[in-house]
Amino acid sequence: MSHNEPAVLFAEETIQQRVKELGRQVSADYSAVDELVLIGVLRGCYIFLADLSRCLTIPRRIDFMAVSSYEQKTTPGTLRLIMDTRTDIAGKHVLIIEDIVDTGRTLHYLLEMLGSRKPASLRTCTLLRKPDRLEKDVQIDYLGFDIPDLWVVGYGLDYADRFRALPYIGFLEEDC
Ligand code: 5GP
Repeated sequence: MSHNEPAVLFAEETIQQRVKELGRQVSADYSAVDELVLIGVLRGCYIFLADLSRCLTIPRRIDFMAVSSYEQKTTPGTLRLIMDTRTDIAGKHVLIIEDIVDTGRTLHYLLEMLGSRKPASLRTCTLLRKPDRLEKDVQIDYLGFDIPDLWVVGYGLDYADRFRALPYIGFLEEDC
């Protein structure tokens, strides 16, 4: 794998504009609720969640969860909760914030777990989705962009913990 600069898939301005649109849509849809709980799935979501939450015009609370990454697993498909939320979400309106939905296993796992805690509502928002890789039938209520089957980095996303701070979303050319 090359350690050269990744090729640009979405420029900074393109991402910022789409995040603003998502922020407007979420703010409009939740305009009548007392408070929206945004639950970010660490670590890749942190920049998207920071930008999206600042675009919202409704009362909101931020919380995080972390799930083990299948990259480090010998048997893909086994997910483990590493960090839980601090918020008791029973009766609350919850929006899960993901960086990227690949197979959909992570989101499926989180939807089952958080759904069992009886939130008032539970929806999903992901910046990116790889439709060709989806294995689980997960509902995505807010989507930034569909992308091809590439390993993408930047805007919070990493390759071996590199590239997270890039302001754009790029891909590593060897993946083509
Ligand atoms: P899923 O459970 O949907 O297969 O995988 C979701 C997780 O896999 C994401 O939250 C992310 O951590 C990781 N992932 C999947 N595809 C990519 C990618 O192209 N780039 C990066 N950086 N992470 C990815």
